[in-house]
Parts: sequence; C-alpha cells; structure tokens
Amino acid sequence: MKIIVIGAGMVGASLTWELTQAGFTVTLLEAGEAGKGTSANSFAWINAHGKPPEGYHRLNAAGIEAHRDLAKRFGHAPWLNLTGGLEWRAANEQQAMRDNVEALQKYQYPAEWISAEQMQQREPALHLDGNEGAMGWFASEGWVDTQQYIQQLLQASAEEGAKIVTGSKVVEITRQGDTVTGVKTVDGTLHQADWTINASGRWSDKSPYANPLATPLAPTTGILIRVPADTVPVSHVLATPLFHCRPDGEGVTLLCPNEGVYDIDESTPQSRVNELAADIISKAAAVWPKLAELKPAHYQARMGIRALPADGYPIVGPTPGITGYYTVVTHSGVTLSPLLARLVTQEIQGHPVAELDVYRPRRFIQE
Ligand SMILES: Cc1cc2nc3c(=O)[nH]c(=O)nc-3n(C[C@H](O)[C@H](O)[C@H](O)COP(=O)(O)OP(=O)(O)OC[C@H]3O[C@@H](n4cnc5c(N)ncnc54)[C@H](O)[C@@H]3O)c2cc1C
Repeated sequence: MKIIVIGAGMVGASLTWELTQAGFTVTLLEAGEAGKGTSANSFAWINAHGKPPEGYHRLNAAGIEAHRDLAKRFGHAPWLNLTGGLEWRAANEQQAMRDNVEALQKYQYPAEWISAEQMQQREPALHLDGNEGAMGWFASEGWVDTQQYIQQLLQASAEEGAKIVTGSKVVEITRQGDTVTGVKTVDGTLHQADWTINASGRWSDKSPYANPLATPLAPTTGILIRVPADTVPVSHVLATPLFHCRPDGEGVTLLCPNEGVYDIDESTPQSRVNELAADIISKAAAVWPKLAELKPAHYQARMGIRALPADGYPIVGPTPGITGYYTVVTHSGVTLSPLLARLVTQEIQGHPVAELDVYRPRRFIQE
C-alpha cells in the first residue's frame, strides 16, 4: 500500500518511520527543509503534567513511554534527554500545584511535591530568595533534540526504502469524487497513493487544504532564546512562574517566557521579539544572576508558532465522507509524535484505536 505523508516535522518524520517499519511504501513530501517548521522552534519538553482532562494527560504520559520504547527499538537515541522536570509556581498557586500533584499521583504518574531545599539540591546555581511558592518534581519527563530526532528517523526510513523529498511543496490534493487519490507538487508532479496524510502542522489550515480537508487552528506564538549555558546552568527542564528553561546541548540553554507573559503574534517584528527577549532576560536574572551580565550579542531570540487546534486537542483521523485522507495535527507534538505515529499506523493497517476517538476531525464538522 502506498502512503504520502505531507510535512517533515516531528509528526511527519515519526509517521514516515513507523509506517515504513510496518512495510508500507512511504513518500514524504516537504515544502522546505526537513525539521525547520514549528519543530525547530519548540521548547520540546516531553511532559504530561498540567494537561487536563485525565484522558489527555494519559495520552501524553503514554507519549513519554513511547519515546522510551522508540529509543529501545531504534537501538540508540541521542535526541532523548530524560532529565526529569521541575516546576515552580507562584505562592498564590500553591493549592493548584498541590491538587495537580495529588491528581497525578492517583493516575500513577511520577509526581512529587518538593521543598525549596530539594529544588536547590537539584539546581544548585538557581537563586532562591525564600519567598518561593510551590514546587514539583516530575521524574519521568525530559526534552528532545528535535533536529537530531527528525534527521535520524528520516535517514533510517530512507535506508529502509522510504522516499524523502524536500523542497517539494504540495499544491493540490487530488480527488476523484469523494476519494483522495494523492497530491500534486509545485513542479507539477502527480503522486498517487492509497492514503494521503496531512502532517503539515500550522500550515494544515491553509492552501492546498480546503474544507473539509483543512483543520481548524488557533495558533499562538512563543519566544525562544538561546543563551550561553554558563549564564543559566540548569540541568533539568525547569518551569518557573515567568519562564521555562532547559539545557539545549553544546553549551547552550534554552529560555522561553511562559505563554501569555507577552502579547505577540506572527506579525510581531524581530526588533520587538529582541526587546521582549531583553526584558525576560533582565527579569530572569533574579533567579539566574549571571544573566545580568549577558549582552545582546551573546544570545539569539526567535519566534515559534504553535500548531494549535482550535479546541487545543489533537486532530487525528480520517475526514468523514472522504476516503484515502487522514489528518495528524497537534500541539504537544514533541511529546506525542512517536505514540501518535504508532497508533495511526495501526489504524492504517485496519485496526481502529478507540483512544483516538475523542480526537477525530469529525468533532469540528457541523451536522
Ligand atoms: C514556543 C513553542 C513551544 C512548544 N513547546 C512544546 C513542548 O514543550 N512540548 C511539546 O510536546 N510540544 C511543544 N510545542 C509544540 C510542538 O513543537 C509541535 O506540536 C510540533 O513541533 C509540531 O510538529 P509538526 O510536525 O506537526 O509540525 P512542523 O514541525 O511545523 O512540521 C510541518 C511541516 O510541514 C511542512 N509543510 C507545510 N505545508 C506543506 C505543503 N503544502 N507541502 C509540503 N510540506 C508542507 C512544513 O514546511 C513543515 O516542515 C511547542 C511549540 C512552540 C511553538
């Protein structure tokens, strides 16, 4: 059976690898370079806490497990950094944190309420001033080097027969009546397939997708700042009341203001992004004192645009009334990609997966 995957981000690379492993003939079509979409501009924390309701939490917890399984199946996984996650919330969120940790423990998810001293043991260079609110430790979490992940999965897929075509934008989804027959790429080539999978992330609501093949998205925008690791010598993923930070390999730490701290969108100019980066760095210096000495020439700030479905939850499944077409678009895609790829492969093999039912595209279709 022939399958076309559109988009070589975390989702498309995972699908390509898993479908190739299952024996399908896969062609992956990518408009630009592999891995340079949202997956290149992500905080890439693999986590499942603070992700209600229970079903969505469990999906993300299974996502972390799927990362571990993939690492075993692949044989090595230099992209996977299971550092554990620390969360520090403001004093007025103490109760919310306690409730969250208790609920997670009931779900058997590794979650612990920790003291400021325990936080300090894990992150000795973090400056705590004694007015800390609530702190949690989530031992199973970590982060993914998305570029390594995507490159290695695509290379392994190509070695096993998948065709990876970059610089090849899909400009038309071809149909015969209610059956999707494949796609046309920008150079005019027609590609035929039994299944065409939309893994185009934040572009999945734009041309060539039109109703009912397009996904309803409500993208939000984040800022990612790469600073020298010696200014923020963090060794776990750490969420603070104002920003997140984590190691980013090769002497770099990634710093990301929390969602909602700054009001920006796709049209925000880079000069404004730089101003906001300077602002968050000056505020973060309260807990990472060496940041106070950091000059703009020594850090880089960029925007990331979330592939956020309109109701916040993954969109996974066929489109009602259409044959041969399947969508996989999600936020938390770094956490979820290996799991979704495995479940979608089962569905393409003809075995419906009940746990995906709540995430079907049909929920957006007005009867
Ligand atoms: C600031 C920020 C922080 C985040 N933090 C986290 C986090 O901590 N944990 C987590 O799990 N997730 C996080 N996410 C979300 C996560 O990064 C995304 O869910 C994930 O990267 C989406 O992967 P994707 O493959 O769907 O999309 P992408 O990586 O964007 O890939 C889609 C690809 O499709 C290609 N494409 C589009 N249209 C076409 C076309 N017509 N023809 C051919 N190719 C096409 C694009 O060029 C692109 O390469 C974050 C996102 C942002 C922006």
